[in-house]
Amino acid sequence: MERLHGVSERRAGMLAELGIESVLDLLTTYPRRYIDRTRQADVSDLVVGDEAAVLATVQSSSARRARTGRAVVDVVVRDGTGRLKVVFFNQPWRAKQLAAGTEAIFFGKVTEYRGTRQMANPVVDVVAGVVPGRRTLRILPVYPASAKVGLSSWELGSWVGEALERAGEMADPLPGEWRTALGLWDRTEAFRTIHLPETLDVVEPARRRLVFDELFRLQLALVLRRRAFETDARALHHDVSPREVTGAVSDTLVARFLARLPYELTTAQRRALAVVVADMAGPFPMHRLLQGDVGSGKTVVALAALLAAVQGGHQGALMVPTEVLAEQHFAAVRALLGDLEGPGGMAGGVVRVELLTSRVKGRARAAVLEGLASGSIGVVVGTHALLTEEVAFGSLGCVVIDEQHRFGVEQRATLRAKGADGDPDLLVMTATPIPRTAAMVIFGDLDLTTLDELPPGRVPVVTEWLPGEGHRGEERAWQKVRDEVASGHRAFVVCPLVGESPRVEAKSATEEYERLAAGELAGLRVGLLHGQMAPAAREEVMERFRAGELEVLVATTVIEVGVDVPEATVMVVESADRFGIAQLHQLRGRVGRGGTASWCYLLGGAPGNERLEAVAATCDGFALAEADLRVRGEGTLLGARQKGQSDLRLASLGDPGDIELLGEARRVAEAVVDEDPQLGDHPDLADEVRLLLSEDEGEYLFKS
Ligand code: ADP
Ligand code: MG
Repeated sequence: MERLHGVSERRAGMLAELGIESVLDLLTTYPRRYIDRTRQADVSDLVVGDEAAVLATVQSSSARRARTGRAVVDVVVRDGTGRLKVVFFNQPWRAKQLAAGTEAIFFGKVTEYRGTRQMANPVVDVVAGVVPGRRTLRILPVYPASAKVGLSSWELGSWVGEALERAGEMADPLPGEWRTALGLWDRTEAFRTIHLPETLDVVEPARRRLVFDELFRLQLALVLRRRAFETDARALHHDVSPREVTGAVSDTLVARFLARLPYELTTAQRRALAVVVADMAGPFPMHRLLQGDVGSGKTVVALAALLAAVQGGHQGALMVPTEVLAEQHFAAVRALLGDLEGPGGMAGGVVRVELLTSRVKGRARAAVLEGLASGSIGVVVGTHALLTEEVAFGSLGCVVIDEQHRFGVEQRATLRAKGADGDPDLLVMTATPIPRTAAMVIFGDLDLTTLDELPPGRVPVVTEWLPGEGHRGEERAWQKVRDEVASGHRAFVVCPLVGESPRVEAKSATEEYERLAAGELAGLRVGLLHGQMAPAAREEVMERFRAGELEVLVATTVIEVGVDVPEATVMVVESADRFGIAQLHQLRGRVGRGGTASWCYLLGGAPGNERLEAVAATCDGFALAEADLRVRGEGTLLGARQKGQSDLRLASLGDPGDIELLGEARRVAEAVVDEDPQLGDHPDLADEVRLLLSEDEGEYLFKS
């Protein structure tokens, strides 16, 4: 890095802080926008309501403190045509940065304040130390420099320029015929143009090429991972056929299980099950993601898969992220299976179901471990405890992972590796639906099945957002809680996320519990549930709530996943603005399970909060997922996956054009790997993919 002109050791350190450590990093630090100098606004032309960029000189700047205590910096700037007021809130350092005489570009919305035009908190790019000649460019790229780190956009720009020169003609790993077919630019040209466009029109084709590269690399890695997985797999034999799902066969374990369900499967469940069963009977181990909205009935599909394994003489394991959830699933599975007779040879004839969490201790634990090792346990439900070394299976045939986003890729692999006879089938489930496109990026190595239908009789949860500070306007919510409890129903009150520490959160929940029990909810039987309570105490509270002994449960997000109490009809979420869209949707899924009208009140948040508006507007998890993608971008979404996420710098999954490219990228990746599974004839491509992968995985995928 320090080989670049002007990059001192100190500067290199600053760059590193921005995550820029190599020439490639520099080249992929893209302009966040351009200033078209032929179009750049003059101060005199600014119109209230417009977003605009002006290049101006600071005439004066002064810092003060508003009556509310917050820091205000007033700046007056000027260009040849007029003067503009610029004001900064809570950025006291601006006074120093924008001393009189400083030249800078101010980008922001023009507003009116007391009859004068002004910009409040604009983006500022100080035009200091400009490289000679640079400012004569017609189009100025503006980089995401950080004033806090102390690097200006212009410095970055000059280094990028130099990096471009150093890089010279770059190798283009994309085979020429594909480039032509897709109408993509040459890579070197694309890099040059995105940084130093001659006109704004050429930015888009350049960007398109680079977006394709990002998506293509990732798809290649995923396709390779997928293929390697298939070639290496030692699939187990499962004695199960799709005819069992349709009821054409009635005497097998799976068929008997389905026949005794107290309800009809939805069409979506039936379809999903048919696909799962076909996977399991097929030559490769299943590697599938089952997604479905909260309450869509994934558990039954999962159980049938586990039983298909048992039917073939193997075992099934269901792993969930929390103890509360494990216990609940365990109880549900036992209830659903009842005294279902297993295939011949199982102890007692009945399929044995056991629970394994860190709470299962002593002799009970030893018995479970022994049963797993000997194969006498058919189905085990557990938490991370299943991953520990002491756990060995006689013959693990199918692994189901619920709420997969709580587990890493390695944890998935650890559990799968416990299959002694071969690679068990893997079904991962998620109740945080994601749009198909995003799924392709994040889970491109998994097949995807979606439950797009809720069981009949579900009523959408009436959701109301009561914005505002303090406890004003909330009375309706508490009134509803009291009314519902009076008519025999139950309610949840969810306490806000507080910082990072579960202990602080527990404290805040406890205080809220005391406040409510003495105030709004006085006279009701109120209980408290949080993650810092001893497991036994937690289970006792849950049990009393289930049984109706407690009418209201004040809880932290420990209830987020899976808690299933059909009588609960109201939920109040406090400081709802602290939660994300997906999380609120999950939480809300805890009510409306009993077929009776249900309500969810979101308290807090400033008017205009897009997330809360979205959650209040719809109960459709997929629509919300799209909204989430729009509000947050894919960054956070991809954050769920360790590798490759930082690689989407340009591509946006909210952009229809990019989504189309994603499809193309997938197609090309598959074609290339079909033809050249080890990328032996495409060494440049192999190198790029390696950049995305950990060393171990690289070795695994490119075995020589
Ligand atoms: P999720 O997909 O959120 O995990 P569950 O599997 O927990 O959903 O199912 C939610 C509820 O719906 C459970 O109480 C379950 O018994 C019930 N259920 C599942 N499938 C059906 C169906 N086909 N008809 C009626 N109720 C169903
Ligand atoms: Mg579930």
